[in-house]
Amino acid sequence: MGSDCHHADGVHPGLRGGALSQAIGAAETRCAATQERLTAPRRRVLELLLAADGPLKAYDLIAAFGADGEPAKPPTVYRALDFLERLGFAHRIESLNAYVPCRREGTAHRAAFLLCDCCGAAEEFEPDFDAQLQAAARTGFLVQTMTLEARGLCPACRKA
Ligand SMILES: [Zn+2]
Ligand SMILES: [Zn+2]
Ligand SMILES: [Zn+2]
Repeated sequence: MGSDCHHADGVHPGLRGGALSQAIGAAETRCAATQERLTAPRRRVLELLLAADGPLKAYDLIAAFGADGEPAKPPTVYRALDFLERLGFAHRIESLNAYVPCRREGTAHRAAFLLCDCCGAAEEFEPDFDAQLQAAARTGFLVQTMTLEARGLCPACRKA
């Protein structure tokens, strides 16, 4: 994804240095406030997602897990991803089968993404699902999760 696109370099740079430690610190504070623990594997997976320039697949995370180049055991990464998704620190983009860190501060929310077919950028945005959810509720259906994925071209790729 995005390997032959040169339009959008740096549009979604991963976090580095101080910005990365700040984001990890904020995640630790949020975990503590909800009686959850950001264990070493959870912290490592979150760090890899935050530092990435785009969505990562589970096998990317497994391969990059060890600071010494050692891959992780897959269940370690999958369990950490479950936790990060449950607490809203990360989202799974189903059509890409890949994960991104949540770029919105604060509480859990329904996720929506604008996905660029050219460069692979995934931009999170705030959907307004109220009408749809009310329509579903009127039929008696209980919606538990909902992720909107909209595909197209990002501003940088459109300009090119
Ligand atoms: Zn989010
Ligand atoms: Zn793009
Ligand atoms: Zn492009």
